[in-house]
Amino acid sequence: MPWDKEYDVAVIGSGPAGEGASMLAAKEDASTVVIERHHLVGGGCTHWGTIPSKTLRHAVSEVLKLRSNPLFAKMINHAATSLPALLQNMSGVVGKQVMLRRDFYQRNHVPVVHGQASFVDPHTLSVDTGGSQRSLRAKKIIVATGSRPYRPSDVDFTHPRVRDSDTVLALDETPQTITIYGAGVIGCEYASIFRQLGVKVNLINSRDKLLSFLDDEIIDALSYHLRDQGVLLRHNEEYERVEPLDEGVVLHLKSGKKIKSDVLLWAQGRTGNTAELGLERIGLSADSRGLIKIDEVYRTAQPHIYAVGDVVGPPSLASASYDQGRFAATHAVTGENNERLVQDIPTGIYTSPEISSIGRTERELTSEHVPYEVGHALFRSLARAQITGQGVGMLKLLFHRDTLQILGVHCFGDQAAEIIHIGQAIMSQKGEANTLRYFVNTTFNYPTMAEAYRVAALNGLNRLC
Ligand SMILES: Cc1cc2nc3c(=O)[nH]c(=O)nc-3n(C[C@H](O)[C@H](O)[C@H](O)COP(=O)(O)OP(=O)(O)OC[C@H]3O[C@@H](n4cnc5c(N)ncnc54)[C@H](O)[C@@H]3O)c2cc1C
Repeated sequence: MPWDKEYDVAVIGSGPAGEGASMLAAKEDASTVVIERHHLVGGGCTHWGTIPSKTLRHAVSEVLKLRSNPLFAKMINHAATSLPALLQNMSGVVGKQVMLRRDFYQRNHVPVVHGQASFVDPHTLSVDTGGSQRSLRAKKIIVATGSRPYRPSDVDFTHPRVRDSDTVLALDETPQTITIYGAGVIGCEYASIFRQLGVKVNLINSRDKLLSFLDDEIIDALSYHLRDQGVLLRHNEEYERVEPLDEGVVLHLKSGKKIKSDVLLWAQGRTGNTAELGLERIGLSADSRGLIKIDEVYRTAQPHIYAVGDVVGPPSLASASYDQGRFAATHAVTGENNERLVQDIPTGIYTSPEISSIGRTERELTSEHVPYEVGHALFRSLARAQITGQGVGMLKLLFHRDTLQILGVHCFGDQAAEIIHIGQAIMSQKGEANTLRYFVNTTFNYPTMAEAYRVAALNGLNRLC
């Protein structure tokens, strides 16, 4: 057992951040241990976040395709396409992910201790394994404890009709109506999923538009398509109280509106998992959202203790968390690391339609007085989209009108999260290699969605005078 020795590195949490950190440390020959309080590895990412939501979304959109195909619609077995059945399918994918990740730890000889970790002193962790308390010592400690849905104290989350993004995955029947409070990425994604399942959706936004960090044209498209699908969108609303009942739940809004539905999904932000870490015992603290402050190499105020992933705040993405874990572990083991997260991290939003974007928006470029031009490609004019029947969507390139440097890529529609990476590859080139001309001077496979880049580049060049 791992208790008797002092490790070079102890990592708390086995999500993407903890996995990235522990694999890097082990490959650098540092003796490494991982402490994970859930009985399976993978983190919130695998069990309650990215993997379940994206698997469910895929299953729901497959069902929708069948339903809208006259050849297959009559053959659909409704029990097999209910929410519980689709969630069952999701557990298969989660199981495969867990096996894969468990294997990484085994192959790299990294013991995983299952229990709740907290600090005893700056080098000692107490681990509650559910019955016994043991302690572990390490020279360096990496906190990768992730985050959980934010739960205000005046909302009763023990009531079966009140859910958050963790507990919504345990619904035992498909609701007829759902109210989603919070129209951030998670709220919008679940609004799409439930609507595609045929559920009546109220999406309540406390701001004046959806996902305001996106380009306005993409925000407009998302709002249009959600409404077109039947999602009832309400902006600038704040909750006054939540009234759970036996036969439903009522959301009382400060504006005086009352919205009754079968289920309420609370999707109003997240909190870092720091409350149980005993940070006060080692002279560290977290802010009001449970986040730990770090420096540019992920060190906390205790220089041998690092923090990575959701527990340090934005970008709060699985992809970035993994890299942060690797960077912190490199510094912990070798004493230096010059790698940083790329400046432009792409956004992938798995709504219907899918959205992805990288770089600056028109709003930002205008306020910075950058002389830019726009090139558009509508998916409905691409052969590949016509063949697959996925004509809803658009690729939009923003480029400097003098240098032709690409400044932003914004996309919505089928496979947007994949398509964006072509633009990212060119946009991240240094100097003159970042140019719109690449897309007109290269040859694309035909028919492909990638061809949208050529169409958008030509469209943009034609606008130049
Ligand atoms: C619904 C939803 C959808 C998402 N979709 C996407 C997406 O499409 N793409 C994307 O990039 N990101 C997505 N995310 C975000 C992504 O899941 C997180 O950014 C990512 O999981 C963060 O990784 P992490 O390692 O920091 O934390 P986590 O994955 O949360 O892992 C933290 C681990 O630490 C453990 N832990 C916590 N405290 C302790 C303790 N005291 N002792 C021992 N163990 C502890 C937890 O049990 C957990 O296993 C989504 C999130 C949600 C909620």
